Amino acid sequence: MPAKPKCYLTTPIYYTNGLPHIGHTYSTIVCDTIRRYKRMRGYDVVMTTGTDEHGVNVERAAKKAGVPESEFVAKMAAEWKALWDELGIPSDEFIRTTDLKHAHTVQWLFKLCRENGFVYPGHYTGQYCIYDNAYVDVKPGENCPDCGRPTETVTEANYFFKLSAFQKPLLNWYAKHPEFIQPESRRNEILSFVEGGLRDLSITRTSVRWGIPVPGEEPHVFYVWFDALTAYLSAVGGPNYEKQGYWPADVHIVGKDIIRFHTVYWPAFLMAAGLPIPKQVWAHGWFLMDAAKMSKSKGNVVTPRPIVGVLGMDALRYYLLRETVFGQDGNFSYDALVTRYNSDLANGLGNLASRTAAMIEKNSSGKIPKPAALQPQDNALAGQVQAAIGEVLEMYDNLSFSRALEEIWSLIAATDKYLTAEHPWSLGESEADQQRRSTILWVTAEVLRVVTALAHPILPDSTAKVWSLLGQGGQAASVALDGLRWGQLAPGTPLGKSQALFPRIEKAEAIERMESMENEPQKQPSPATPAAHASTPTAGGAAAAAAPAANEKIGIEDFAKVEMRVGQIKTAERIVGADKLLKLTVDIGTEIRQICAGIAQYYEPEKLIGRKVAVVVNLAPRKLRGVESNGMIVAASVGPEGRPVLAGFPDEDVEIGARLK
Ligand SMILES: [Zn+2]
Repeated sequence: MPAKPKCYLTTPIYYTNGLPHIGHTYSTIVCDTIRRYKRMRGYDVVMTTGTDEHGVNVERAAKKAGVPESEFVAKMAAEWKALWDELGIPSDEFIRTTDLKHAHTVQWLFKLCRENGFVYPGHYTGQYCIYDNAYVDVKPGENCPDCGRPTETVTEANYFFKLSAFQKPLLNWYAKHPEFIQPESRRNEILSFVEGGLRDLSITRTSVRWGIPVPGEEPHVFYVWFDALTAYLSAVGGPNYEKQGYWPADVHIVGKDIIRFHTVYWPAFLMAAGLPIPKQVWAHGWFLMDAAKMSKSKGNVVTPRPIVGVLGMDALRYYLLRETVFGQDGNFSYDALVTRYNSDLANGLGNLASRTAAMIEKNSSGKIPKPAALQPQDNALAGQVQAAIGEVLEMYDNLSFSRALEEIWSLIAATDKYLTAEHPWSLGESEADQQRRSTILWVTAEVLRVVTALAHPILPDSTAKVWSLLGQGGQAASVALDGLRWGQLAPGTPLGKSQALFPRIEKAEAIERMESMENEPQKQPSPATPAAHASTPTAGGAAAAAAPAANEKIGIEDFAKVEMRVGQIKTAERIVGADKLLKLTVDIGTEIRQICAGIAQYYEPEKLIGRKVAVVVNLAPRKLRGVESNGMIVAASVGPEGRPVLAGFPDEDVEIGARLK
């Protein structure tokens, strides 16, 4: 037997300044879907993900957590890896940029580029924030965008990569390989960027300590992209890539914000070293919340665990790939997610599977019935299914996931319609009626079998259940899609056991459960590890309430960042559908704020009016159960159940708006 063709896929190498949100999960789900699809087409597939662990931000976060960098990043990488495992989307290779084999690969790539004359020593000049110990992207005289302090113009010795020499070679490459940059709109964007001319690129730093050393050139360490991009190659053999046989990558899946690095810098580095160029870079869009990009600083981040906990991983996979055309931005909403779940999964695939199994159980003693001669209406459906097989495979090849799902679900809809028209349940017990019923049930079960195989790359868990329900041997994952045809369902096969697929769920309840899990600060990131604290300084909303480790001291300037003032509660009311929350309006001296507080189980709203409380007034606004909350009421957390007790001012009549310090 000839060896299987190889296929190499990568997610971005994620930067470890926080834990994965829906955006990261989306990239990884896409990659996993392609992996499953390619395996069902007979490929030997390797999928790489990993963590980008170097740089100033990691240095600072580790310092803040009071642990060495190596310990900090090890915990972070372990959390990322554990989450992918938990979600059923583990990589085949998990590369960390602190792995020794990665350092060797970066150093080797640098050596090749240098030997070929594409690296030279020079000086980098930029605006530097001495408070943050980092270059910032501002003009001389402007303040640091992170901390607002004045910046200094600093010059340091660097090595430069001769990116300018690759304008022509890159344009030639794009012309010869029109499929290299996808989707088309991104390709045009990159073409005009490169046509505008390329500046040489600083690829080392002497001001950063936490990085891969440039051999013989200490204190130079490699800087950001030369380090991070090379991880794709380190994961599949590095200098020995030929022996493993997976390089060049078939597809790098990336977010649209990093496409330039992957389609300009990365192929240029590889060309300079004389190494093969990846076949394709596919940039997907962002999921927006209320039309804004999700980010920790905005406090509008959605993470996967609450959704998976309430609706299951297949529901998340289905929603992300169905709702948005791959490559474009999408809007994320819990409402649309639950709507899709109920209409497409519970009422669609789940309902067709359970009613088909029930009818076969009842009329054919639990065995796939034997069809008599097919009627024109049976053949029409069969023809539609057979045609869809080829179309769906082509859509998968083009990463048109939403269209593939649309096509597969059109088969489900056609079958529901077919059953309504043929109504096997109202046929009688005559020989002819029994034969007709058997035919209808066989046709229905056969559509379900094909649907299951086609949807498997996107819905691995639920289709595996349908597959075994239909009594099909082996795993759904091992179906050879190239051999999938209408008519392969063998009569007489006993049905397997029925398992719950997509139980219908009440929308408001599902949303409340997901939102309240999302807003519990301890759920993400877990506060037990120092890694979690990396995200707290910038996390604003969800993680803002996580306390630093007990032994960690903060400076007065950290405390000074929290602006707390005396406020007076003006109104208080319950929120329909959220039994823990009260909606308050609070006078903080300069303005009246709307603030949600999780105290409804312990305080009567009417008794709160007029009460003076301590309010954190400079917290980023966020939404709780759809209600905007602009600030936080300070309360003690008492007893094992964490009963909130409002902080107050019993001794003296304090002025509204007075600052607590
Ligand atoms: Zn600064």
